[in-house]
Amino acid sequence: MNIIERGKKFIQSLQELANRTLWDWRKCPQCGSMETNRWGTYTRTPWFLNGRREVKVQRHKCKACGVTYSERSPLLKRGSWYAREVHRSAIDHWQHGGTSFRRTAEFLRSWLGKQERYLLWRPLATPPPASERCHLSASTVHRWVDKAGIKAQESVEGQLEGIADTQNAGVDGLWAKLRGGGKRVVLMLTDSVTGIVFPPVIAKGEESAQFFRQLFARAEQAGLNLEQLRGVTSDGAQGLVSYMKRTLYWVHHQRCVWHLWRNLRKPLAEAARQASAGLDKKAARLKRKEIRRELGSLVRQVMDATGYAQAELALEALRRHPFGADIAHFLNLHLDNILIHTLDYYQGLQRVTPEWRWRDFRLRLSHGRNHGSEQRLERAVLLWAVYRNFTPAQERYERKRKYRHPGLSPLAVAGFPHENISYLDALEV
Ligand SMILES: [Zn+2]
Repeated sequence: MNIIERGKKFIQSLQELANRTLWDWRKCPQCGSMETNRWGTYTRTPWFLNGRREVKVQRHKCKACGVTYSERSPLLKRGSWYAREVHRSAIDHWQHGGTSFRRTAEFLRSWLGKQERYLLWRPLATPPPASERCHLSASTVHRWVDKAGIKAQESVEGQLEGIADTQNAGVDGLWAKLRGGGKRVVLMLTDSVTGIVFPPVIAKGEESAQFFRQLFARAEQAGLNLEQLRGVTSDGAQGLVSYMKRTLYWVHHQRCVWHLWRNLRKPLAEAARQASAGLDKKAARLKRKEIRRELGSLVRQVMDATGYAQAELALEALRRHPFGADIAHFLNLHLDNILIHTLDYYQGLQRVTPEWRWRDFRLRLSHGRNHGSEQRLERAVLLWAVYRNFTPAQERYERKRKYRHPGLSPLAVAGFPHENISYLDALEV
């Protein structure tokens, strides 16, 4: 069952619960007998977003099997002091609002109990008596988030089946610190065209092929068809390069041009240093600047070439430059890794890694510091991936970020407009 179907099924189950008639409740859930009696009521006082409310719960007793059971409401969560809407709001505050567990709890307490920050917003309001205060704690919010993470984990199998028809992908890793010390890498694979994020994995590093085997295995489990994969964009992470050579030998590797530029910083500086050797300070500085500009422009012509012929010409010009030979040699080694995105067969393959995705990941997970263990970090990351796939990109331009599909979620871009189903439904919150 893919992630959208999961969400639909959950909403249906809530609707069913809401539409249950008196008659439906008379049927014993244990043995199916209709021979049941009403068996008194009890009162609960769960917190809703607008405060505490009394809810009467009807109980029933089955004459046939003797079991007693109570009516359920789609508004409530079994065994919780807080209504479903509070659970959902808490997870959304943390995930979408990008705030901490502590602040999420503080904001919700303020709304629910009209206390704490609420008194800042309404200066003339009187604080509630101690007995009516809300005590929602950060650790409770953390538990709720973790529970949603467990659901995300359970949904990995077939999560994107029939949705992501991925031919070109991007791979990137982000280091995360664990609260108790220790570092891990979150490895992520995304569809280059739709931006769909496959369920990430947590690895100990990026240097071993084994870590990337895990990443691709999980993506496959979620619905990625490795055989139809054509290209992968990434930086030069050793583990990925060797994994692809051995296992995904039919897949071409597009080196992220942004990372390549970063790798070229040193050789460019070195060439400039050689060119300026022996000159006095001021002249040397000018010379360095000039050489960097010349070489930079030649490198750009190779990197940004729209085809092989153009790149070869630019490469030749670079080779002829008195200080360009080493850099030309480096670029020539990686020429395929720079240019395959220009071939029709690899249409949709990006020139840069999905690194910018981390921007919004970082906002939410603050480098993983909130997560005491690797397991918790993993659940949070899996939750984030589901959130990401269901959440529309912004409509507006924001500073320098230009959204390729404004107002659309990656799932919608893939051709699955999930309408009123959200990540919270998909994770059964
Ligand atoms: Zn019964």
